[in-house]
Amino acid sequence: MPRIFCIANQKGGVGKTTTTVNLAAGLAQVGQRVLVVDLDPQGNATMGCGVDKRKLEASIYDVLLESATVAEARVRSPAGGFDVLGANRELAGAEVELVGLDRRNERLAAALSPVAAEYDFILIDCPPSLSLLTLNGLCCAHGVIVPMQCEYFALEGLTDLVNTIKQVHANLNPRLQIIGLLRVMFDPRITLQQQVSDQLKSHFGDKVFNAVIPRNVRLAEAPSYGQPGVVFDPSSRGAQAYIAFAREMVDRVKTLR
Ligand code: ADP
Ligand code: MG
Repeated sequence: MPRIFCIANQKGGVGKTTTTVNLAAGLAQVGQRVLVVDLDPQGNATMGCGVDKRKLEASIYDVLLESATVAEARVRSPAGGFDVLGANRELAGAEVELVGLDRRNERLAAALSPVAAEYDFILIDCPPSLSLLTLNGLCCAHGVIVPMQCEYFALEGLTDLVNTIKQVHANLNPRLQIIGLLRVMFDPRITLQQQVSDQLKSHFGDKVFNAVIPRNVRLAEAPSYGQPGVVFDPSSRGAQAYIAFAREMVDRVKTLR
């Protein structure tokens, strides 16, 4: 059975989508079977995987509202070597439509279970909010990967996320845990970033991944070519860091209960 992880942080622009897409491609390169679920109406993960969000025949929206199955809606990332359950603007409406429905938190979990055995990893790219969509992700996940920039307000922002995860753990999904914090867009020349990084390690210990993702322009350029950075420029420092992170995740899941 696969390990299901949410890539979450309620802040926007912190590297969630870049992490989802490149971790997926990295895992695929080391032989893992991967499904990416785009849970953000912006559809950036979909596009970054090389799938045109405007041309989806069915999307995560249809899956959540039960008008398509995951098997029907998923497509292949041409360059990435993994499957994608895509999203587009339609998904923004799901939030409102779900509120009136039963099992509204558990829709994604129910939808994924028939295909789960086909994957080693399912990675869910969450929107920048603690919304009903994110809740659907948290309800079906084993754990949360939190990408973060080592900035002054980073720790403060973590409090809300950690509290939400605790609540979901207590009330909805007892297996949910924080898998780890991933330092992204890291620039070691900036003293403040080193300081925040040290603080993270002293607060969270081995919950901080060893892999550190540097700020690297190749990772930012890759989506406009419809390719994960790991595929677009495998020798770049950013790609190498995500490959190292993928290997670390493969090891880390072996230690999970
Ligand atoms: P989120 O999904 O959290 O909103 P993104 O992954 O979309 O964040 O990243 C926000 C922006 O930063 C994007 O333009 C992306 O290309 C860029 N970016 C992300 N990670 C890196 C990195 N390690 N180096 C350089 N640019 C990055
Ligand atoms: Mg995003």
